[in-house]
Formats: sequence, structure tokens, C-alpha cells
Amino acid sequence: MFCWIPGHSGIIGNEMAHKAARRPATVVDNFVPLCDALQAVKNQLTKKWQRTWDEQNQNKLHEIQPMVKPLKTCALNQKQSVVLNRLRIGHTRLTHKFLLLSEPPPTCTRCQCILSVKHILVHCPNFDIHRRNRFG
Ligand SMILES: [Zn+2]
Repeated sequence: MFCWIPGHSGIIGNEMAHKAARRPATVVDNFVPLCDALQAVKNQLTKKWQRTWDEQNQNKLHEIQPMVKPLKTCALNQKQSVVLNRLRIGHTRLTHKFLLLSEPPPTCTRCQCILSVKHILVHCPNFDIHRRNRFG
């Protein structure tokens, strides 16, 4: 946790830090380049964020992106990016329009389970031939 303190007068620890900062030997001995310090802070914050995210294993988005670091993607245009993100989170017109229409969720005609992007892309035997043709 970082806290901005506008002044240091009268605070013993801050007075000592101020005096230490004025001594050249101390500054040279403890010198850390700003970019290194910022990277260390960034690494620690990322680790903390990851620990917090790891505790949320019931969140359906955790399965899609277990790591907090950004996913590597090739250059996509806006429309492709939207499609890819909708597939990742499993929200498509096919699987979720029932919410807007106040209808029951769609089911797979073959498996009789609730239709989902994951079911279509991973599990459904109906699309097995398409998966094999497309992804090998
Ligand atoms: Zn199915």
C-alpha cells in the first residue's frame, strides 16, 4: 500500500530518511534505477493480482484466462477482436439471445444439454467433423 504524505517535518522517521537522502554515499550505495524500481513494483502488484485471481476459481472467466497477464493475440481488427472475446467468454447471439427474448435456454439437438460455446467447440459430437476439418 502506498500513501502520499505531503510533508515530513516533525515526523522522526521522515526526518531521518530526509537526512539519509542528503548524504551522497547513502544515495550511491542504495541507488536503484527508477525503471528497475517500477518493474519491481509492477511485478509485485501482478503477483498480488494473480493470487487474488487464483482465489476466484468459481468465476467462469477464470477457466478462460487463468493468468492475469494479457493474452498474446495476433493483430486483429475490431470486429475480429469482438468475435474472439465473445467466444472466449461464451456470450454469443446463438447461446444467449434467450435472455433478451425471455425464452428457455437453447439445447443441443443431439446431446439435449444447454447449448454453449464450449459445448460446440469442444464436446458436441455434432461438430466433431467440423473440429477435425478445421483444427486437425
Ligand atoms: Zn451437442
